[in-house]
Amino acid sequence: MLEIEVYSRTFYLFCILYFCAVCSGLSPFPKLLVVSTDGFRHDYLHHVPTPNLHLLMKEGVHAPWMKNVFVTKTLPNHFSIMTGLYAESHGIVGNEMFDPVLNKSFSGENTPEWWDNGHVMPILLANQLEDGSRVSGEMMWPGGDSLIRNMKPFYNAAFNASVSFKERVDIVISWLINEKFPANCIFLYFQEPDHTGHIFGPNSPEIREKIKLVDSTIGYLIKKLKEAQLYELLNLIILSDHGMTEVADGNLIEMDSILDPSLYHVSSGSPVWNIRPVDAGKLDNIYNTLKKASKTNHFKVYKKEEIPDGYHYKNNRRIMPILVEADEGWLLMHNRSKFTGKKGSHGYNNSLRSMHPLFIARGPAFKVNFTVKPFNNVDLYPLMCHLLDIHIWPSNGSLENVLPMLDIRYDKPVCFSYFNPFVIGILAILVISVSGILIGAAVLTLSKRNKVTTVDVNLETVLPKSKEGLSSKDELKQLLMEGSEDEM
Ligand SMILES: [Zn+2]
Repeated sequence: MLEIEVYSRTFYLFCILYFCAVCSGLSPFPKLLVVSTDGFRHDYLHHVPTPNLHLLMKEGVHAPWMKNVFVTKTLPNHFSIMTGLYAESHGIVGNEMFDPVLNKSFSGENTPEWWDNGHVMPILLANQLEDGSRVSGEMMWPGGDSLIRNMKPFYNAAFNASVSFKERVDIVISWLINEKFPANCIFLYFQEPDHTGHIFGPNSPEIREKIKLVDSTIGYLIKKLKEAQLYELLNLIILSDHGMTEVADGNLIEMDSILDPSLYHVSSGSPVWNIRPVDAGKLDNIYNTLKKASKTNHFKVYKKEEIPDGYHYKNNRRIMPILVEADEGWLLMHNRSKFTGKKGSHGYNNSLRSMHPLFIARGPAFKVNFTVKPFNNVDLYPLMCHLLDIHIWPSNGSLENVLPMLDIRYDKPVCFSYFNPFVIGILAILVISVSGILIGAAVLTLSKRNKVTTVDVNLETVLPKSKEGLSSKDELKQLLMEGSEDEM
């Protein structure tokens, strides 16, 4: 009988643990949260007190800076982080661009013709493809809501500047702890300090306030993750897409004084212009004029085939026949009347330190208080596949470059799924064996007794009432979007 009691207790303990896991509202899969704070230059966190970012550095790993992709603009880099591909490979070669096959210009549309070139596999979608019960979410991530391979992340929130940073955190947490569809991989985006950096410059008092805002939002995120019992379970990455440099008064390159504007089209914004001659036969004339002017001006010019290989910005039809690249701190524009007076800019060469963004990571996979050597942002893709324990899709990144930041004890995360055959098999064996023992014990006990005791159980009082079901993802999304706190 003692054996039976031990088996029974083990069985009940197993059941309790299992149901605790199921009912906890957390995904059973490895959890990853990537936060991008746009235009957060690698050294900003030393400009003002940033206790929360420093706490994460102390508890995790950080790089002095991270190398981003050319051009150092928002859309190409956010898509590179998501796909592990250089701009020439994923096809988002600028915030604006022209596609000669589509014969269209792009300015941020999320349609597949721009984002889905047939071989991109954003990590959020790779996560969902790995297992039907994995759930991804994107909170305003640039390009995150694009339809690729006819898929989108399960949770989507299109960019809306009126939703405060804290509200975004609240919604993301609600996705992570959602009882029906808990997310295990989320990308979260904040548009500062980039916006303020453009207007006031990277050394302004105004941008310091935004750096503090980002830091306090990270503090709020840490608090919420702790409350949700997620802080120790989840791998958290805080990064940015690019840096920012000062634009001194008068650092304008007035292209109309160099080249007749009726001779060409420009399909991307300063400081890198993609130039397409109106008359293809005049390509050499245009190039020669620009080349001569570049000797006395602050820019470089390349024919498409001359662009250095290291730019990884050549082999794509959306890169135009001539590329003009302004020197650091200089702006390209047709003429001075177009100048809006901005004090900060980015998009310059990705070898410039001022263009390099922030990287911090903390969680069970990462070492503690560790400084990792700078690496390429495309290396994050294989790293994230590894962290999520999914198939590593082809990319331009290298896992080898980022492995030193990982705690070796987290070499291969154990992926526990309620639905995997192993768990179901173990449960079935336990249920059958314990039931057999219990039935045997019951028969033995009954044979010793004359009287049978019955207990009436009102199942309605024992079984928990099921939660209100949500009929569609839209309803769920609507519910999650409801209720907001203070504005920031
Ligand atoms: Zn910007």
